[in-house]
Amino acid sequence: MKNGKIIVIAAPSGCGKSTIIKALFDEENASELDLRFSISATTREPRPGEKEGVNYYFMTEEAFRDAIVEGGFLEYEEVYPGRFYGTLRNEVDRIIGEGHNVLLDIDVNGALGVKKIYGERALTIFVRPPSVDELRRRLEARGTETPDVIDQRIDRAEYELSRSPMFDRVVVNDELDEAVRQTRNLVDGFVSL
Ligand code: ADP
Ligand code: 5GP
Repeated sequence: MKNGKIIVIAAPSGCGKSTIIKALFDEENASELDLRFSISATTREPRPGEKEGVNYYFMTEEAFRDAIVEGGFLEYEEVYPGRFYGTLRNEVDRIIGEGHNVLLDIDVNGALGVKKIYGERALTIFVRPPSVDELRRRLEARGTETPDVIDQRIDRAEYELSRSPMFDRVVVNDELDEAVRQTRNLVDGFVSL
């Protein structure tokens, strides 16, 4: 097994990507994957319970723009109007430099950008909801966004879903345990290559 692999998981917001990633890391045999989560930078506000340097590095837009100019990002996107998200080059280099595999939880465009940079060294996984109606129900049930923001996320989801064929693998998150099992198998197979 050779480490330094990059696993990129992308999905429209609300598809269950964070839930699947958390389950992957919480599994008993998670350490076998030797995976580390790459913490992104964002200009959005922290949600209740989110912590600086754990979920994200929370930045002002000014600091984010400075980091762009300094070449600090491997990729970045304005995922929603006025809300920037980016993968910090240092974060990924550090994890790979320490001999681990790295997991990126980023948006669809960012994922395809990372695949372009790393090619065969990266595995891109797209998580789909069973349907757009079910996606809306999950976003409403999560209760972390206002109705306006939910509408914005659904609009974007429709665009993102159209890009799923460009990913290496697609997992449908209908029954959670099954989606976690499939994701685990894909990651396991890739890091064992
Ligand atoms: P994302 O990280 O993709 O934005 P989350 O992991 O926050 O999405 O999931 C969105 C909501 O859907 C959460 O409330 C989560 O508990 C719920 N959820 C996730 N997977 C499933 C599933 N398979 N069936 C039903 N609800 C789910
Ligand atoms: P949220 O606000 O729900 O945490 O994230 C919104 C979207 O931004 C998700 O699709 C998430 O994967 C994506 N995202 C998080 N970090 C990054 C990043 O570093 N780069 C890109 N391109 N997208 C990101």
